[in-house]
Amino acid sequence: MMQSKLYISSPINALLEGFYQNDITIDMLREKGDFGIGTFNNLDGEMIALNGSFYQLDLDGNAHLVDGSMKSPFATMCHFQPSLTDEVMEPLSYGSFEKRLRQMLPSDNMFYAVHMTGSFKSVETRSVPRTENYRPLSEATNDQKIRFFYDVEGHLVGFYTPSFVPSINVPGYHFHFIDHSFSAGGHLLRCEPERLDIRLQIFFSMELTLPKTLDYLTASFARNAEKDLEKAER
Ligand SMILES: [Zn+2]
Repeated sequence: MMQSKLYISSPINALLEGFYQNDITIDMLREKGDFGIGTFNNLDGEMIALNGSFYQLDLDGNAHLVDGSMKSPFATMCHFQPSLTDEVMEPLSYGSFEKRLRQMLPSDNMFYAVHMTGSFKSVETRSVPRTENYRPLSEATNDQKIRFFYDVEGHLVGFYTPSFVPSINVPGYHFHFIDHSFSAGGHLLRCEPERLDIRLQIFFSMELTLPKTLDYLTASFARNAEKDLEKAER
């Protein structure tokens, strides 16, 4: 039996400071799970892992299978073993979808992995541009590129993080989207689902690794993580 533990490769407050380089490779992330999301060193696109395949969603939203030697400054991973299911059977506005998400969890104070697969009237995603170190994430995302998908089938891969750990991971839901042909996607901004199969995994524990970089070791984290994340991720 594989461990059912959530893995977070670095606290997100390091990313918020603009520490975009770490020594964690995709091969190392693969040992922590077959399912996850994150980014690459120098914020070079959005990362999505599904069924053990890792993709880079570049600035234009195009998907590329990634090399195991590529590195990531931030990723959340798990061995996906869902125990709860739900479904969306009728078209939902983005507002109703958000409401559904809020009602879906048995408790708001746990971590969850969430896989949704189905069809969407529309999906709006973004990707981040390659960025040099020390440019805070909340500024780097000013140059994000937005992509729209219409009448598309695909996957939402993501996690729910309780609100009390905003310096560790993005509070609330954080999804990355990839279409069913694995050709394009990005970090989810909005969507209007028509039909969804939803599978959830609940976590009672998590593993967090801390970066060994000089930047991280000598940083003083004064930033308001919650405020910066709201700007960078929503
Ligand atoms: Zn993201």
